[in-house]
Amino acid sequence: MPVYSEEDCEGALFMAKWPSGYRCPRCVHPQYYNVASKGRKLFECISCGHQTSLTAGTVLEGTRTPLCKWFQAMYLMQIGISAKLLSELIQVTYKTAWLMNHKLRYAIEQWDRELPLQGQLQLLGEFYGYEFSRHFSSISADAEQRAQPVIVGASIVESTGTMTNLKIKRMECAGSVPEDSGELERFLRNHAVHAVDRAGEVKVFDRRDRRERSALHAIWTDAVRWLARTFGGIGPKHLQAYLDEFCFRRVLRNESMAELIGLCGRTNTIINRDLVGKRAGIQPIRRGRKYTNSRRKVAS
Ligand SMILES: [Zn+2]
Repeated sequence: MPVYSEEDCEGALFMAKWPSGYRCPRCVHPQYYNVASKGRKLFECISCGHQTSLTAGTVLEGTRTPLCKWFQAMYLMQIGISAKLLSELIQVTYKTAWLMNHKLRYAIEQWDRELPLQGQLQLLGEFYGYEFSRHFSSISADAEQRAQPVIVGASIVESTGTMTNLKIKRMECAGSVPEDSGELERFLRNHAVHAVDRAGEVKVFDRRDRRERSALHAIWTDAVRWLARTFGGIGPKHLQAYLDEFCFRRVLRNESMAELIGLCGRTNTIINRDLVGKRAGIQPIRRGRKYTNSRRKVAS
């Protein structure tokens, strides 16, 4: 695992948060003084005196964990590990590691919303639950737990077979069947662009058809295997966040860490209460105006 310096991490997060240079969050002035308060590094606006920190307004807001550990957690999210293993590797408590992983997944949720499926689509309805967990020898499989219907959808370049985007979504309605045409339509409406009148561009695979195994079947098997081996299976409450993480990694591959740093810099804070309880919607940071003047003066 790489070791990062705090300065390098600050530089990377600065670029993610202010890609065209510092902007005062109150008056958008582009110049600041470096100041320190109670050991924290702050940016003080030259114009209005407003002080802000690097993590303020980002998904890392309020963290007391050093940035270098956050960056190691982002690095490890390229593999997808449990909070328990993360806590051992970067030397934080289990609770901290759990929250870090979930805050990163919250940032990934933003990526998911910004990037709907488009072009030629392939869909596969599946179930996640006991029978899969049992199949892969999960230790925490709960026999009473109902199987969760999910839809696996991918944007495919037909000529080359290359997958350019992937989403796996748990169906909202309890007891719904993933191959139901209403559910497939709902999936397209929520997660694909120009979803209307595009029946010819969508290929739907049947999970029960053993003769026609598609790339989507293989992807789904990988997802189930990862959930079983790494976490011993995941319950319905947080399943969607883990599936989004899987898709993020699968689509971005080597670029996933750079993308995650960018997302952390521009995704608004989620408070821990929201994370543990019902998952709240994402509020992207609003950038009201475009600024062309990126000249920056640092005085201290
Ligand atoms: Zn200001």
